[in-house]
Amino acid sequence: MKNNQSIVTNLPSPSFVCEEQLLLNNLKLLKRVQDEADVNILLALKGFSLKSSFDLCRKYLKGCCASGLNEALLAYEEFKGEVHTYSPAFKPNEFPKISEISNHIVFNSFAQLDLYKDSVQPHNSLGLRINPEYSSVEVDLYNPCGVYSRLGITKEEFLKGITNYPDALSMISGFHFHALCEQNFDVLEAVFTKFEANFSEYFKNLHWLNFGGGHHITRKDYDVDGLITFLKGIREKYPHLKIYLEPGEAVGWQTGYLEATVLDIVHNGIDIAILDASAECHMPDTLAMPYKAEIRGASKDPSEKKYSYRFGGNTCLAGDIIGDYSFDQPIKIGDKIIFEDMIHYTMVKTTTFNGINLPSIVIKRIDGTFEVITNFGYEDFKSRI
Ligand SMILES: *Cc1c(COP(=O)(O)O)cnc(C)c1O
Repeated sequence: MKNNQSIVTNLPSPSFVCEEQLLLNNLKLLKRVQDEADVNILLALKGFSLKSSFDLCRKYLKGCCASGLNEALLAYEEFKGEVHTYSPAFKPNEFPKISEISNHIVFNSFAQLDLYKDSVQPHNSLGLRINPEYSSVEVDLYNPCGVYSRLGITKEEFLKGITNYPDALSMISGFHFHALCEQNFDVLEAVFTKFEANFSEYFKNLHWLNFGGGHHITRKDYDVDGLITFLKGIREKYPHLKIYLEPGEAVGWQTGYLEATVLDIVHNGIDIAILDASAECHMPDTLAMPYKAEIRGASKDPSEKKYSYRFGGNTCLAGDIIGDYSFDQPIKIGDKIIFEDMIHYTMVKTTTFNGINLPSIVIKRIDGTFEVITNFGYEDFKSRI
Protein backbone atom coordinates (compact mmCIF):
# COMPACT_ATOMS: atom_id res chain seq x y z
CA MET A 1 0.00 0.00 0.00
CA LYS A 2 1.69 3.19 -1.16
CA ASN A 3 -0.01 5.72 1.06
CA ASN A 4 -3.14 6.28 3.03
CA GLN A 5 -5.18 7.62 0.11
CA SER A 6 -5.28 4.22 -1.52
CA ILE A 7 -7.14 2.64 1.38
CA VAL A 8 -10.77 2.02 0.58
CA THR A 9 -12.89 0.22 3.13
CA ASN A 10 -16.48 0.20 4.18
CA LEU A 11 -15.85 -1.01 7.71
CA PRO A 12 -17.39 0.96 10.56
CA SER A 13 -15.01 3.68 11.75
CA PRO A 14 -13.08 3.44 13.90
CA SER A 15 -12.50 -0.33 13.93
CA PHE A 16 -9.98 -2.67 15.47
CA VAL A 17 -9.21 -5.23 12.78
CA CYS A 18 -7.61 -8.45 14.00
CA GLU A 19 -6.10 -10.52 11.19
CA GLU A 20 -6.65 -14.19 11.94
CA GLN A 21 -3.78 -15.36 9.76
CA LEU A 22 -1.30 -13.24 11.74
CA LEU A 23 -2.74 -14.53 15.00
CA LEU A 24 -2.45 -18.09 13.71
CA ASN A 25 1.24 -17.54 12.90
CA ASN A 26 1.86 -16.42 16.50
CA LEU A 27 -0.10 -19.33 17.92
CA LYS A 28 1.85 -21.84 15.84
CA LEU A 29 5.16 -20.44 17.04
CA LEU A 30 4.01 -20.59 20.67
CA LYS A 31 2.82 -24.16 20.12
CA ARG A 32 6.27 -25.08 18.82
CA VAL A 33 7.85 -23.79 22.05
CA GLN A 34 5.24 -25.69 24.05
CA ASP A 35 5.85 -28.95 22.21
CA GLU A 36 9.62 -28.83 21.81
CA ALA A 37 10.38 -27.62 25.34
CA ASP A 38 7.58 -29.65 26.98
CA VAL A 39 6.09 -26.62 28.73
CA ASN A 40 2.56 -25.22 28.99
CA ILE A 41 1.61 -21.89 27.49
CA LEU A 42 -1.39 -19.90 28.69
CA LEU A 43 -2.91 -16.77 27.21
CA ALA A 44 -2.76 -13.78 29.57
CA LEU A 45 -6.18 -12.18 29.14
CA LYS A 46 -4.88 -8.87 30.46
CA GLY A 47 -3.13 -8.25 27.14
CA PHE A 48 -5.48 -9.96 24.69
CA SER A 49 -9.05 -11.02 25.40
CA LEU A 50 -10.70 -11.09 21.98
CA LYS A 51 -13.16 -13.86 22.72
CA SER A 52 -14.17 -14.35 19.10
CA SER A 53 -10.65 -15.64 18.47
CA PHE A 54 -10.70 -18.18 21.30
CA ASP A 55 -11.88 -21.05 19.09
CA LEU A 56 -8.59 -20.63 17.25
CA CYS A 57 -6.41 -19.96 20.32
CA ARG A 58 -7.75 -23.02 22.13
CA LYS A 59 -6.26 -25.31 19.48
CA TYR A 60 -2.76 -24.12 20.32
CA LEU A 61 -2.65 -22.95 23.95
CA LYS A 62 -3.50 -24.79 27.17
CA GLY A 63 -5.72 -22.17 28.74
CA CYS A 64 -5.67 -18.68 30.20
CA CYS A 65 -4.21 -16.76 33.06
CA ALA A 66 -6.67 -14.43 34.74
CA SER A 67 -6.17 -11.60 37.21
CA GLY A 68 -9.43 -11.87 39.09
CA LEU A 69 -13.03 -13.01 38.83
CA ASN A 70 -14.07 -11.40 35.55
CA GLU A 71 -11.08 -12.66 33.59
CA ALA A 72 -11.41 -16.07 35.24
CA LEU A 73 -15.04 -16.25 34.13
CA LEU A 74 -14.10 -15.26 30.59
CA ALA A 75 -11.43 -17.96 30.59
CA TYR A 76 -13.80 -20.56 31.99
CA GLU A 77 -16.85 -19.76 29.88
CA GLU A 78 -15.31 -18.68 26.59
CA PHE A 79 -11.83 -20.20 26.32
CA LYS A 80 -12.67 -23.38 28.23
CA GLY A 81 -9.08 -24.53 28.86
CA GLU A 82 -7.14 -24.42 32.11
CA VAL A 83 -7.85 -21.39 34.30
CA HIS A 84 -4.94 -19.96 36.32
CA THR A 85 -5.95 -17.09 38.53
CA TYR A 86 -3.65 -14.68 40.31
CA SER A 87 -4.72 -11.46 41.95
CA PRO A 88 -2.72 -8.92 43.96
CA ALA A 89 -5.51 -9.42 46.51
CA PHE A 90 -8.60 -11.61 46.21
CA LYS A 91 -11.96 -10.22 47.34
CA PRO A 92 -13.95 -12.28 49.84
CA ASN A 93 -17.17 -12.08 47.83
CA GLU A 94 -15.43 -13.21 44.64
CA PHE A 95 -13.24 -15.97 46.00
CA PRO A 96 -15.84 -18.79 46.13
CA LYS A 97 -16.54 -18.48 42.40
CA ILE A 98 -12.82 -18.12 41.62
CA SER A 99 -12.01 -21.29 43.50
CA GLU A 100 -14.87 -23.11 41.78
CA ILE A 101 -13.63 -22.37 38.25
CA SER A 102 -9.83 -22.11 38.64
CA ASN A 103 -7.26 -24.88 38.29
CA HIS A 104 -4.40 -22.87 39.76
CA ILE A 105 -4.76 -20.08 42.29
CA VAL A 106 -1.72 -17.92 42.95
CA PHE A 107 -1.57 -15.77 46.07
CA ASN A 108 0.39 -12.57 46.37
CA SER A 109 1.13 -12.91 50.10
CA PHE A 110 1.18 -15.44 52.91
CA ALA A 111 -1.64 -13.52 54.56
CA GLN A 112 -3.88 -14.04 51.51
CA LEU A 113 -3.06 -17.74 51.43
CA ASP A 114 -3.89 -17.98 55.10
CA LEU A 115 -7.13 -16.03 54.67
CA TYR A 116 -8.45 -18.32 51.94
CA LYS A 117 -6.87 -21.65 52.86
CA ASP A 118 -10.16 -23.03 54.19
CA SER A 119 -12.16 -21.82 51.16
CA VAL A 120 -10.08 -23.52 48.47
CA GLN A 121 -11.38 -26.66 46.81
CA PRO A 122 -9.66 -30.01 46.19
CA HIS A 123 -9.16 -29.27 42.48
CA ASN A 124 -7.28 -26.02 43.22
CA SER A 125 -3.51 -26.19 42.93
CA LEU A 126 -2.15 -23.35 45.04
CA GLY A 127 0.90 -21.19 44.47
CA LEU A 128 2.69 -18.14 45.76
CA ARG A 129 3.89 -15.25 43.62
CA ILE A 130 7.53 -14.53 44.25
CA ASN A 131 9.23 -11.22 43.54
CA PRO A 132 12.55 -12.42 42.10
CA GLU A 133 14.02 -8.96 42.77
CA TYR A 134 15.67 -8.87 39.41
CA SER A 135 14.43 -6.84 36.54
CA SER A 136 15.62 -4.85 33.59
CA VAL A 137 12.30 -3.26 32.68
CA GLU A 138 12.99 0.43 32.23
CA VAL A 139 9.50 1.94 32.36
CA ASP A 140 8.29 1.95 36.00
CA LEU A 141 4.65 1.63 34.96
CA TYR A 142 5.49 -1.78 33.50
CA ASN A 143 8.13 -3.00 35.94
CA PRO A 144 6.72 -5.69 38.25
CA CYS A 145 9.98 -5.77 40.25
CA GLY A 146 10.54 -2.04 40.61
CA VAL A 147 11.31 -0.36 43.94
CA TYR A 148 8.45 -0.88 46.44
CA SER A 149 6.59 -3.15 43.99
CA ARG A 150 3.45 -4.62 45.54
CA LEU A 151 3.58 -7.63 43.23
CA GLY A 152 5.09 -10.79 44.65
CA ILE A 153 6.89 -11.84 47.82
CA THR A 154 10.50 -10.83 48.31
CA LYS A 155 13.01 -13.26 49.80
CA GLU A 156 12.99 -11.36 53.08
CA GLU A 157 9.19 -11.53 53.33
CA PHE A 158 9.22 -15.16 52.26
CA LEU A 159 11.48 -16.09 55.19
CA LYS A 160 9.19 -14.22 57.58
CA GLY A 161 6.18 -15.90 55.96
CA ILE A 162 7.35 -19.47 56.44
CA THR A 163 8.05 -18.67 60.10
CA ASN A 164 4.74 -16.91 60.75
CA TYR A 165 2.65 -19.42 58.78
CA PRO A 166 4.30 -22.78 59.47
CA ASP A 167 1.74 -24.80 57.47
CA ALA A 168 1.94 -22.56 54.37
CA LEU A 169 4.58 -24.47 52.44
CA SER A 170 2.69 -27.75 52.83
CA MET A 171 -0.34 -26.16 51.15
CA ILE A 172 1.33 -24.90 48.00
CA SER A 173 2.29 -26.72 44.82
CA GLY A 174 3.98 -23.99 42.87
CA PHE A 175 5.84 -20.73 42.60
CA HIS A 176 4.94 -17.99 40.17
CA PHE A 177 6.97 -14.99 39.07
CA HIS A 178 6.25 -12.32 36.50
CA ALA A 179 9.19 -10.00 36.01
CA LEU A 180 9.49 -9.33 32.29
CA CYS A 181 7.99 -6.86 29.84
CA GLU A 182 8.59 -7.18 26.10
CA GLN A 183 11.85 -9.01 26.71
CA ASN A 184 14.04 -11.62 25.11
CA PHE A 185 14.97 -14.90 26.73
CA ASP A 186 18.34 -13.70 28.06
CA VAL A 187 16.40 -11.66 30.64
CA LEU A 188 14.30 -14.69 31.59
CA GLU A 189 17.55 -16.58 32.09
CA ALA A 190 18.92 -13.83 34.36
CA VAL A 191 15.70 -13.63 36.37
CA PHE A 192 15.56 -17.41 36.72
CA THR A 193 19.18 -17.57 37.90
CA LYS A 194 18.42 -15.17 40.74
CA PHE A 195 15.12 -16.90 41.52
CA GLU A 196 16.76 -20.32 41.54
CA ALA A 197 19.56 -19.17 43.84
CA ASN A 198 17.03 -17.86 46.36
CA PHE A 199 14.23 -20.39 46.14
CA SER A 200 15.37 -23.74 44.68
CA GLU A 201 15.73 -25.21 48.15
CA TYR A 202 11.91 -25.15 48.29
CA PHE A 203 11.37 -26.74 44.85
CA LYS A 204 11.36 -30.33 46.01
CA ASN A 205 7.80 -30.29 47.34
CA LEU A 206 6.38 -28.37 44.39
CA HIS A 207 4.70 -29.55 41.20
CA TRP A 208 5.01 -26.50 39.00
CA LEU A 209 6.75 -23.20 38.29
CA ASN A 210 5.08 -20.38 36.39
CA PHE A 211 7.39 -17.87 34.70
CA GLY A 212 4.66 -15.29 34.05
CA GLY A 213 4.50 -13.20 30.89
CA GLY A 214 6.57 -10.56 29.16
CA HIS A 215 8.28 -13.11 26.90
CA HIS A 216 8.26 -11.43 23.51
CA ILE A 217 8.44 -14.79 21.76
CA THR A 218 6.71 -13.78 18.54
CA ARG A 219 8.85 -10.70 17.92
CA LYS A 220 11.15 -11.16 14.92
CA ASP A 221 14.42 -10.93 16.85
CA TYR A 222 13.37 -13.20 19.74
CA ASP A 223 15.74 -16.11 20.29
CA VAL A 224 13.11 -18.87 20.16
CA ASP A 225 15.62 -21.71 19.95
CA GLY A 226 17.54 -20.23 22.88
CA LEU A 227 14.33 -20.20 24.91
CA ILE A 228 13.54 -23.81 24.01
CA THR A 229 17.04 -24.99 24.99
CA PHE A 230 16.86 -23.03 28.24
CA LEU A 231 13.43 -24.42 29.17
CA LYS A 232 14.50 -27.98 28.29
CA GLY A 233 17.46 -27.51 30.62
CA ILE A 234 15.13 -26.60 33.48
CA ARG A 235 12.87 -29.56 32.69
CA GLU A 236 15.89 -31.88 32.85
CA LYS A 237 17.20 -30.40 36.06
CA TYR A 238 13.79 -30.44 37.79
CA PRO A 239 11.82 -33.15 36.01
CA HIS A 240 9.08 -33.15 38.65
CA LEU A 241 8.16 -29.54 37.88
CA LYS A 242 5.74 -28.59 35.12
CA ILE A 243 6.64 -25.26 33.59
CA TYR A 244 4.09 -22.62 32.62
CA LEU A 245 4.53 -19.44 30.59
CA GLU A 246 1.67 -16.97 30.30
CA PRO A 247 2.34 -14.39 27.59
CA GLY A 248 -0.33 -11.90 26.56
CA GLU A 249 1.46 -9.50 24.27
CA ALA A 250 3.24 -12.28 22.35
CA VAL A 251 -0.14 -13.77 21.38
CA GLY A 252 -1.62 -10.55 20.00
CA TRP A 253 1.67 -9.06 18.79
CA GLN A 254 1.31 -7.47 15.34
CA THR A 255 -1.97 -9.20 14.60
CA GLY A 256 -3.91 -6.22 13.34
CA TYR A 257 -4.60 -2.53 13.27
CA LEU A 258 -6.91 0.30 14.23
CA GLU A 259 -8.53 2.01 11.28
CA ALA A 260 -9.78 5.57 11.77
CA THR A 261 -11.18 8.37 9.62
CA VAL A 262 -10.06 11.97 9.24
CA LEU A 263 -13.04 14.13 10.31
CA ASP A 264 -11.49 17.57 9.87
CA ILE A 265 -8.18 19.34 9.39
CA VAL A 266 -7.60 22.52 11.39
CA HIS A 267 -4.64 24.91 11.38
CA ASN A 268 -2.82 26.49 14.29
CA GLY A 269 0.82 26.95 13.33
CA ILE A 270 0.70 23.40 11.95
CA ASP A 271 -1.90 21.22 10.22
CA ILE A 272 -3.87 19.18 12.71
CA ALA A 273 -6.06 16.28 11.60
CA ILE A 274 -8.92 15.37 13.90
CA LEU A 275 -9.74 11.67 13.85
CA ASP A 276 -12.65 9.60 15.06
CA ALA A 277 -10.09 7.58 17.03
CA SER A 278 -8.62 8.95 20.23
CA ALA A 279 -5.30 8.50 21.99
CA GLU A 280 -6.96 8.77 25.37
CA CYS A 281 -9.91 6.46 24.67
CA HIS A 282 -8.56 3.99 22.16
CA MET A 283 -4.75 3.96 22.26
CA PRO A 284 -3.98 4.88 25.87
CA ASP A 285 -0.46 3.49 25.84
CA THR A 286 0.55 6.16 23.35
CA LEU A 287 0.08 8.53 26.32
CA ALA A 288 0.94 6.23 29.23
CA MET A 289 4.04 4.43 27.99
CA PRO A 290 4.42 6.77 26.09
CA TYR A 291 5.15 5.68 22.52
CA LYS A 292 4.36 6.72 18.99
CA ALA A 293 2.27 4.33 16.92
CA GLU A 294 3.18 3.43 13.34
CA ILE A 295 0.85 4.75 10.65
CA ARG A 296 0.72 2.78 7.41
CA GLY A 297 2.27 4.77 4.59
CA ALA A 298 3.51 7.60 6.84
CA SER A 299 6.79 8.55 8.45
CA LYS A 300 6.99 8.97 12.21
CA ASP A 301 9.46 11.75 11.51
CA PRO A 302 7.22 14.80 10.87
CA SER A 303 9.85 16.44 8.69
CA GLU A 304 10.87 13.45 6.57
CA LYS A 305 8.10 13.67 3.97
CA LYS A 306 6.57 16.69 2.30
CA TYR A 307 3.22 16.96 4.12
CA SER A 308 3.15 16.84 7.87
CA TYR A 309 0.22 16.58 10.26
CA ARG A 310 -0.44 16.26 13.91
CA PHE A 311 -3.17 13.69 14.69
CA GLY A 312 -5.57 14.38 17.52
CA GLY A 313 -8.64 12.63 18.88
CA ASN A 314 -12.24 13.75 18.95
CA THR A 315 -12.38 14.32 22.73
CA CYS A 316 -12.18 17.71 24.38
CA LEU A 317 -8.99 16.72 26.20
CA ALA A 318 -6.17 19.04 25.09
CA GLY A 319 -3.63 16.26 25.46
CA ASP A 320 -5.52 13.77 23.28
CA ILE A 321 -2.71 13.83 20.73
CA ILE A 322 -1.51 10.75 18.87
CA GLY A 323 1.60 12.37 17.40
CA ASP A 324 3.13 14.20 14.44
CA TYR A 325 3.67 12.36 11.14
CA SER A 326 4.56 13.14 7.53
CA PHE A 327 3.17 11.88 4.22
CA ASP A 328 4.08 12.01 0.53
CA GLN A 329 0.61 13.25 -0.39
CA PRO A 330 -1.69 15.67 1.38
CA ILE A 331 -4.35 14.18 3.66
CA LYS A 332 -8.02 14.85 2.94
CA ILE A 333 -11.13 14.80 5.08
CA GLY A 334 -12.61 11.30 4.84
CA ASP A 335 -9.23 9.57 4.42
CA LYS A 336 -8.63 6.39 6.37
CA ILE A 337 -5.66 6.29 8.72
CA ILE A 338 -4.29 2.93 9.78
CA PHE A 339 -2.45 2.56 13.07
CA GLU A 340 -0.39 -0.61 13.05
CA ASP A 341 -0.18 -3.24 15.77
CA MET A 342 -3.20 -2.10 17.77
CA ILE A 343 -4.55 -5.42 19.02
CA HIS A 344 -2.63 -6.42 22.17
CA TYR A 345 -3.04 -4.05 25.14
CA THR A 346 -5.23 -1.66 23.15
CA MET A 347 -8.66 -3.29 22.78
CA VAL A 348 -8.44 -4.30 26.42
CA LYS A 349 -7.75 -0.75 27.58
CA THR A 350 -10.31 1.35 25.74
CA THR A 351 -12.69 3.68 27.55
CA THR A 352 -15.78 5.67 26.59
CA PHE A 353 -14.35 8.81 28.22
CA ASN A 354 -16.10 11.95 27.00
CA GLY A 355 -18.78 9.84 25.34
CA ILE A 356 -16.51 8.67 22.57
CA ASN A 357 -17.70 5.39 21.05
CA LEU A 358 -15.55 2.31 21.40
CA PRO A 359 -14.08 1.13 18.07
CA SER A 360 -15.96 -1.69 16.39
CA ILE A 361 -14.34 -5.11 16.56
CA VAL A 362 -13.61 -6.72 13.20
CA ILE A 363 -11.91 -10.01 12.39
CA LYS A 364 -10.26 -10.51 9.03
CA ARG A 365 -10.80 -14.23 8.54
CA ILE A 366 -8.14 -16.46 7.04
CA ASP A 367 -10.03 -16.52 3.73
CA GLY A 368 -9.71 -12.72 3.54
CA THR A 369 -13.28 -11.80 4.42
CA PHE A 370 -13.97 -9.15 7.04
CA GLU A 371 -16.45 -9.98 9.77
CA VAL A 372 -17.75 -7.19 11.97
CA ILE A 373 -18.03 -8.84 15.37
CA THR A 374 -19.31 -5.99 17.53
CA ASN A 375 -20.42 -2.39 17.20
CA PHE A 376 -20.74 -0.19 20.26
CA GLY A 377 -22.98 2.75 20.97
CA TYR A 378 -24.78 4.90 23.51
CA GLU A 379 -25.83 1.95 25.71
CA ASP A 380 -22.19 0.98 26.29
CA PHE A 381 -21.37 4.53 27.36
CA LYS A 382 -24.48 4.90 29.50
CA SER A 383 -24.15 1.58 31.30
CA ARG A 384 -20.67 2.34 32.59
CA ILE A 385 -21.66 4.95 35.10
C1 LIG B 1 0.64 -8.89 32.47
C2 LIG B 1 0.86 -10.25 32.97
C3 LIG B 1 1.12 -11.30 32.08
C4 LIG B 1 1.26 -11.09 30.58
O1 LIG B 1 2.31 -10.25 30.28
P1 LIG B 1 2.68 -9.91 28.75
O2 LIG B 1 3.68 -8.82 28.88
O3 LIG B 1 1.44 -9.46 28.08
O4 LIG B 1 3.22 -11.15 28.15
C5 LIG B 1 1.28 -12.57 32.59
N1 LIG B 1 1.18 -12.80 33.92
C6 LIG B 1 0.93 -11.82 34.81
C7 LIG B 1 0.83 -12.14 36.25
C8 LIG B 1 0.76 -10.52 34.37
O5 LIG B 1 0.52 -9.53 35.25
